[in-house]
Amino acid sequence: MDETRRNLLKAASALLVNQWAAARLGAFTGESSTEAGRKIVIVTCGGIRREDTFSETGIHNISHLYRDLLPQSSFYPFVSNAGVTSHYNTISSILTGNWQRVDDWGKTRPQSPTLSEYLRKQMGLRQDQTWVISSNKALTSKIGASSVRDFGPAYGANVIFPKQLLINAVVHAAAEGRAVHSTDRSTMQPEIESMLNRDNYDGLGWSVSGADSSLNPIMLGTMQQAIENLVRTNAPVTGDEFTYLVATEVMRRFAPSLLTITFSDMEVAHFGSYSLHMAGIRTVDRLVYELWNQLQSLPAYKDKTTLFVLPEFGRDLDGSNTNGFFNHRQNTASTRVTWMMCLGDAVRKAQILENPIEQTDVCPTVARLFALKNLDLPGKPIPGLLL
Ligand SMILES: [Zn+2]
Repeated sequence: MDETRRNLLKAASALLVNQWAAARLGAFTGESSTEAGRKIVIVTCGGIRREDTFSETGIHNISHLYRDLLPQSSFYPFVSNAGVTSHYNTISSILTGNWQRVDDWGKTRPQSPTLSEYLRKQMGLRQDQTWVISSNKALTSKIGASSVRDFGPAYGANVIFPKQLLINAVVHAAAEGRAVHSTDRSTMQPEIESMLNRDNYDGLGWSVSGADSSLNPIMLGTMQQAIENLVRTNAPVTGDEFTYLVATEVMRRFAPSLLTITFSDMEVAHFGSYSLHMAGIRTVDRLVYELWNQLQSLPAYKDKTTLFVLPEFGRDLDGSNTNGFFNHRQNTASTRVTWMMCLGDAVRKAQILENPIEQTDVCPTVARLFALKNLDLPGKPIPGLLL
């Protein structure tokens, strides 16, 4: 991606986060605790097979993970997803530590409390301390908090879908029969304006609707310009790039104690393009490396952050009746067994731990890192970390 384009994305990210902060400022006052000491960042990266990543045939796709990060990580080559291998169910399972069997498209909340709820309830953390920033449209804002009585949205995470903002502008223009890559400011402008001026941010993927969510004119103008410029360029927007930039902006501004980032460029596999799927894997490889470097450069994160990186699942076997890499539905190791990399604060020493673990072990591990008490979770903390 060229620098001009990245700078535009950066500007749009800063604007998004600024706007969010402006709308929520009132809600932050009067709350008590701000920090949890340690920081945890969880990155889930869609469905990617071991054979396309940590295998002889795959390591060329993940040069940063393999060469730069593996030598300093606790690496778990056998991590199983024993639940429903859909995006919403899997990420809900990771965040709750219980295998979730809810609607695949996020129509219902997780049925067990999420890490955000445990964390905010026990530690009294402010609302700006737990976030889910997602590229994946299969996730909805309902992933932010469970339906469990005594927990729920009052303790939930902020959930945002940065890519949706850009997509909406283009899709609405197309639906109205206007040129999607129009260079004509006058045709795009009403679209962008009406999108940004809606009553709340839900339509844009913002789960939190502030009391006053209309954008001020200066913000609106700058945002319009940034998005128009993005729409005008020919290359497709990579959603994960934008998600990454919004995540870094959130880290700079709020330094959340718990941040979950969901990448999904590789999910282009559902449309059958193996080469674009590979490109998505390489994008995640690069963004995870950039994220790691970013964490080292931010004083709020340096030396106190543990980063967990894991695919949600693999994908189906080539030649299967579910269309191979297109999908992730098969009950086979190709789909169910994946890997996880841990980096940073809690890593005792660089090592590969071959004993199988489950994705639902992440939640009790993070709970232990935050010294949360009395959680009734089926999984157990992951070995090889300083807990
Ligand atoms: Zn998928």
